[in-house]
Amino acid sequence: MSALDTAPRLPTYADVEAAARRIAGVAHRTPVMTSRTANERTGAELFFKCENLQRSGAFKFRGALNAIRSLPAEQRERGVVAFSSGNHAQAIAYAGQLEGVRTVIVMPTDAPTLKLAATKGYGGEIVRYDRYRQDREEIGRQLAVEQGLALIPPFNHPDVIAGQGTAAKELFEETGPLDALLVCTGGGGLTSGCALAAQALSPGCQVIGVEPQAGDDIQQSLAAGRIVTIPVPRSIADGALTTAPGSLTFALLQQLGVRVVTVPDEALIETMRFFVERMKLVVEPTGCLAAAAAFSGAVPVESKHVGVIISGGNVDPAALAGYLT
Ligand SMILES: *Cc1c(COP(=O)(O)O)cnc(C)c1O
Repeated sequence: MSALDTAPRLPTYADVEAAARRIAGVAHRTPVMTSRTANERTGAELFFKCENLQRSGAFKFRGALNAIRSLPAEQRERGVVAFSSGNHAQAIAYAGQLEGVRTVIVMPTDAPTLKLAATKGYGGEIVRYDRYRQDREEIGRQLAVEQGLALIPPFNHPDVIAGQGTAAKELFEETGPLDALLVCTGGGGLTSGCALAAQALSPGCQVIGVEPQAGDDIQQSLAAGRIVTIPVPRSIADGALTTAPGSLTFALLQQLGVRVVTVPDEALIETMRFFVERMKLVVEPTGCLAAAAAFSGAVPVESKHVGVIISGGNVDPAALAGYLT
């Protein structure tokens, strides 16, 4: 068991409510959009929660701000360290800048340039590592010990999970109960937080996590009944290239009866095109996972009221153009 897995307890819906109060007025209450074309295509009524329009461009700002605001004063003075393929890094750097807290970010050498530049722009101090050779958790832990920084992991942390759950809380407050909720899934922080909100606000709503086909670590883990670690996946869904769920996210997903499906990269590209053409939304590949499951039939949604989290919009314009042509 790694030091990251020693976090004390599983968050509850009360923690999601507390997070909502803590981030109110700073995190955006993002819009919920609908599309007649999307409904016609799927036979469902789809409600898109647009976290691509969240501050820093992804839902990760919720968990990052909640975690930083939950720190004791003396820790805020020393600062925080985070490791991330991009959006968590950006979110921590941005939340740190807004809160006046020093941030050190451990990022892979092949992180998208837009995400690297944005993290620097928000004042994050960047430490690079090779995602195929080095252990980012080890680097993060070392920095934490050496410099007295608080390590805020991207998903396996109660304050992060509770913060992410506020996205679904807002969605249900706007739509009322839903039959299903589709969530983009990497390490399961967003999905487990949203499942806590669903259990409280829409009991009976089936929460379905959607992973990239090449990165099905949570699907495998749920099937095996224990945490399964897979090799570093290769997919265009760069925000969901996790190799294993965390101890907290896995326990919550198991407990809350979350199901997981996968979609191939081609379905993500088709979905990105749909969002640009029809809804005028810029959505990054990872942010298309949930919608792609509805559009591709990976989850049968006909005649149902379905929430769909669009998790982020941080894609290089050149890369987006490449996907669309
Ligand atoms: C991080 C991220 C995810 C996955 O979130 P987890 O909490 O790791 O499951 C999905 N979409 C985007 C855009 C992300 O940045």
